[in-house]
Amino acid sequence: MSAATASSPFRVVHTVCSHDCPDSCGVLVTVNAEGRAVKVAGDPKHPVTQGFLCGKVAKYLDRVYAPERILFPLRRKAGIAKGPLVRGAEREAFERVSWDEVLEAIAARLKRVAEEFGPEAILPYSYAGTIGVLGYGSMDRRFFHRLGASQLERTICSEAGGEAWKLVYGKKLGTPTEDFRLAKLVLAWGANIHGNNVHLWPFIEQARRNGARLIVIDPYKTRTAALADWHIAIRPGTDGALALGMMQVILNEGLDDRAYIAEMTHGYERLAERAREYTPERVATWTGMTAAEIEQLAREYATTRPAVLRMNYGVQRSENGGTAVRAIAMLPALTGAWKYRGGGGQLSTSGAFNWDKKALERPDLALASPLGRLARTVNMCRLGDALAVQGSGVRDQGLENPDLQTEVGPPVKALFVYNSNPGAVAPDHNAVKRGMERADLFTVVHELFFTDTTDYADYILPATTFLEHTDVQGAYGHYFVQLSEKAIEPPGEARSNVWLFGQLAQRMGFKEECFRDKPEEMIRQALAIGPDGHSNNTAMKHITLEDLKEQGHIPLGFHRDPEAKPFQPFFAGPVPTPSGKIEFYSETLASAGLDGLPEFIPPTESRFGELAKRFPLEFLSRKADNYMNSTFANLDGHRKLEARKSQRLEMHPKDAETRGIGEGDAVRIWNDRGALTLTAMMNASLPAGVVAGQLDWAKMSSDGGNVNALTSERLTDIGAGATFYSTLVEVGRARGVGNKD
Ligand code: SF4
Repeated sequence: MSAATASSPFRVVHTVCSHDCPDSCGVLVTVNAEGRAVKVAGDPKHPVTQGFLCGKVAKYLDRVYAPERILFPLRRKAGIAKGPLVRGAEREAFERVSWDEVLEAIAARLKRVAEEFGPEAILPYSYAGTIGVLGYGSMDRRFFHRLGASQLERTICSEAGGEAWKLVYGKKLGTPTEDFRLAKLVLAWGANIHGNNVHLWPFIEQARRNGARLIVIDPYKTRTAALADWHIAIRPGTDGALALGMMQVILNEGLDDRAYIAEMTHGYERLAERAREYTPERVATWTGMTAAEIEQLAREYATTRPAVLRMNYGVQRSENGGTAVRAIAMLPALTGAWKYRGGGGQLSTSGAFNWDKKALERPDLALASPLGRLARTVNMCRLGDALAVQGSGVRDQGLENPDLQTEVGPPVKALFVYNSNPGAVAPDHNAVKRGMERADLFTVVHELFFTDTTDYADYILPATTFLEHTDVQGAYGHYFVQLSEKAIEPPGEARSNVWLFGQLAQRMGFKEECFRDKPEEMIRQALAIGPDGHSNNTAMKHITLEDLKEQGHIPLGFHRDPEAKPFQPFFAGPVPTPSGKIEFYSETLASAGLDGLPEFIPPTESRFGELAKRFPLEFLSRKADNYMNSTFANLDGHRKLEARKSQRLEMHPKDAETRGIGEGDAVRIWNDRGALTLTAMMNASLPAGVVAGQLDWAKMSSDGGNVNALTSERLTDIGAGATFYSTLVEVGRARGVGNKD
């Protein structure tokens, strides 16, 4: 990357946007002679992200240099109780301390907890606040393994869908993003491409210029749905039924590709028998579509070539979400869509990046912990449950699924949060809040800003942005490895995850050399760089760190010459599943006593369940287009872009009318887990019986809650993920809260 020269005082540094987004944009940061970043721009040489950034990151320097950034380690002042703090006044609850002091204090407390309750009483809590390989999981994992802390099951976002896809295909691979331009039909299923996978959009536009149609299946009329040729506003949680209904039509009308099926798949006869049960008429009763629409969709999908499916993680956030993804994922195998370049499907491309995780995370260090074994696991979607028990230990978290049973162990006495904001994003907000309020719980939060989680912290540690540390990154929406170089010095005393956990390890007295590794050494470990300077990882063997420094991004081996040798996953076998074939029937599930075939079971929290008698409305807790989950929600520029929908409850006019609710009325929305006050906004494009509200920080609302006050800790059928979109509620006018009567 370019250095400052005599003729220019500026240097340009190649970084990578590390926010939780499929695109992983190459970002060029211009830095002036004083070491201050003055511009961020997309890397025009990146073949997928093509030199532009989304609206969330285009003004990233507002975030990097925000006056509200936490720049120094902070300690809660004596006598200040944990709990929601007034936005903008949080600083008053804390006092500045030195890094030296804070590291000593945290190490001492963790030692005490480990001695008194056992190390499993310490719970790390992190997710994809950064998806850089080192920042997401490296030194932190070494630290917690060596400590013997509980392991976190990181399933909140993508595990259900990911596991389901792998049950069918063995690996998370998909049609290259660049090849979507060749499709004649794009089926976006639970995928708001324009909102949160925007670098796929130009390829779809190119396809449409060449005559392709875009069909969007989504209960909500997203930006993408608004631009579609056909938007199917399916009822939440019924995607699996629709996929099975499409199969029924495809099989009934002989639109399946028998030659491809014979060569590439396993379990066809059994699937065909199952699919016969899902007639369009029956499926219509669940989805809200007509039988004719289901037939039309199936025919169009099966007879257009190439047809490509873009599924995103919205589908899997229902109780039956794993099975739904599994059924949808089978469609391109049934029609042979993988045979045609530009056809097939994509949920994620992350399976192609086989980083050397063992070297990075060092699970073997658990043997040196006081436990002498890997610690128990705690599911991150059940944080409220895990924090609820103070005396007798973490409850069995597998109540609804015997396969998920975890060992009962000590109560959680220390919570270490980084790369996440569970005070806003974790389901069952009130349970999480009750847990985090516990005076006996020691909480450390590594963060950039005061959030819903820092309100409960004993210590807050200042974190870095991707401009301020070095990392390496893959993607879940393309096939390029990228180097993210440190562009600027961290402001104040902000420090990276790698630095933080390396330092803490030394304060704990851990002697292993790996706690002294520097980021560049760890990048070499992630890439498994051998003595010849090249990676030993499959698909990365042509990559050297020096080339990455020079070029910024390098395609994976199978994607180096896409015109001469296009990558067409699942065009030919073997497939990395137990049978070596694409699996319509899963022996793995069957041998675990589960159904080897997909079937549709309506979520208990849906209009088809008993609970609907008390809570008749299905609630969609949506993500805002201009935030990244809860990230960016504190920045005024981003909030302005969301002003129209912020703190609103979108309702179908019929549902509003039957409840005497009008546009702009203050409404109360509730279920057994909690309640919220929002402002009613009519939206006739929602299916009747469905209401929608956006994820926001709890502290931004008038009553200190957010949509997760209503969501549950129930887990998905596959992958033990979160079920945000299986939530029933009732809504009424909030008397006396801004309403005229
Ligand atoms: S959030 Fe996604 S689209 Fe936006 S800059 Fe980052 S990687 Fe690119």
